[in-house]
Amino acid sequence: MTDRRDTDDANTEIDDTPTIACSRCDREWDLDYELDELHAGNGALEQFALDHRQHTGHFPDDVTPWLAECRRCPGHEAFLTERPARRWAETHARHTRHRVSLQHASIDETTTVESPTQ
Ligand SMILES: [Zn+2]
Ligand SMILES: [Zn+2]
Repeated sequence: MTDRRDTDDANTEIDDTPTIACSRCDREWDLDYELDELHAGNGALEQFALDHRQHTGHFPDDVTPWLAECRRCPGHEAFLTERPARRWAETHARHTRHRVSLQHASIDETTTVESPTQ
């Protein structure tokens, strides 16, 4: 590693190992594992959040997931960004003709994705 020195450059976000907290678990983690073992790089936080949900059933703090929920199938899928959520909704609708609703804290109303009628 090169030695670290303070610069005026504002773009120094990955300076130290990032950490993430979960108030439900009452714990805090650093993202060493995601960075070193999984080589997740800039996606380390996303990777942690998805893994955390997979193993605990909830997201850590400061993560607002996109939820894609099929009206017909049980359960729902959660994503960290809109693009994969929308893609999941569109492909699910395309293959099953089910209607899928997309929800996120940033949008007031639920978006419904339907199979395009041809
Ligand atoms: Zn947790
Ligand atoms: Zn479905």
